[in-house]
Amino acid sequence: MSDRDHDQATRLVEAGRRKAWTSLGGQPGGMVNPPVWRGSTHLYEDMADLAHGRPNADGHFYYGRRGGPTQWALADALTAIEPGADGTELFPSGVAAIATTLLALLSPGDELLLTDNAYEPTRSLAFGMLQRMGVTTRTFDPIRPDTLAAAIGDATKVVMLENPGSLTIEVCDVPALTAIARERGVIAVIDNTWASPLGFPALERGCDISVMSLTKHVGGHSDLMMGSVAARRPLLDRVRQTAQSMGQVVSPDDAALALRGLRTMGVRLERTTASALQVARWLAGREEVSAVLCPMLPGAPGHETWRRDFTGGCGLFTFVLADADVAARARLVDALDLFGIGYSWGGFESLAIPVDPARIRDHGAWPATIERGSGLGVRLAIGLEDPDDLIRDLERGFSAMEHL
Ligand SMILES: *Cc1c(COP(=O)(O)O)cnc(C)c1O
Repeated sequence: MSDRDHDQATRLVEAGRRKAWTSLGGQPGGMVNPPVWRGSTHLYEDMADLAHGRPNADGHFYYGRRGGPTQWALADALTAIEPGADGTELFPSGVAAIATTLLALLSPGDELLLTDNAYEPTRSLAFGMLQRMGVTTRTFDPIRPDTLAAAIGDATKVVMLENPGSLTIEVCDVPALTAIARERGVIAVIDNTWASPLGFPALERGCDISVMSLTKHVGGHSDLMMGSVAARRPLLDRVRQTAQSMGQVVSPDDAALALRGLRTMGVRLERTTASALQVARWLAGREEVSAVLCPMLPGAPGHETWRRDFTGGCGLFTFVLADADVAARARLVDALDLFGIGYSWGGFESLAIPVDPARIRDHGAWPATIERGSGLGVRLAIGLEDPDDLIRDLERGFSAMEHL
């Protein structure tokens, strides 16, 4: 581990555990974890206290919609692991975090430039609700920063990135993309769910706002939904105001679960990254596979950029079948015992899902640099099982694919 990793590992343990949130005033000792503070009503001392009011910041009792110590502790912990952030806002899902951020930054007449590899609901939001509100969206090819530079116009206010894309896993040159945005006065937002700040310190790489679905790595156990936005002031305050206007709040029970997940996120990510690399290596040697889109794999597309910009990976990657049809791919996925079939990822369990990005792309379904084969992809979310067992499972899948 580098010093920096060690620093982050220690922070994952320490962050958010302020004495004020883990102990009782006037009594020595305390708890390891901040308890679950359920509540809608926050009480005031007296009329003078009520009249005096409260600052609109975490750490002050006001009203349930602004959260309590359990949510504050989670937000505080997430800020501690996001280098460069002044604070973190919590949302009931990753999509709520993305939608609220874009609504906070865009007004009628503005333009959004959206990475072509964006998460599908982000794309639907842009071409649905945002369009209805008078915001136009154009897409650009994320692995060609020149297409971003060419697309920026006077109305462009926000560029939305995702690195790597969560289906086709292409790594983009975020420092180059954000330098273009900054030069033109455009705010750069990133969906940083894949790597989390442990693997990609987004604000240090030039992004203004880092959004994450906590449903994935932070929760880590497939038992909660949540999202976060980390940023510097004053952008953070804009997102916060919009979130409050829209009544975005997360339950203290879910916040406590997310905090529990956060404590082990570092070791889970290390393990799933190592297992994913082992499985990806094995897949790269299979004749049924034309491309393995796994940034951690030497020789895979984006590997050099990943090495330059990332400090870690995760278990999520995609492979493309060399020569198969939809029915053969279904036989492969159906034959898997250890991989569940499901959207989402980041849990302790492995998942597999077919990937057909053409429908949601303007600039080509797959990165131009890969061997497309059949064009049919399978995305794997590698969990905490023994990777040798996962490989045996995939072997079974490939034989089912070949033999009707
Ligand atoms: C899952 C996911 C989201 C949305 O998060 P939810 O918590 O499911 O709403 C956003 N971006 C990416 C890349 C995701 O994988």
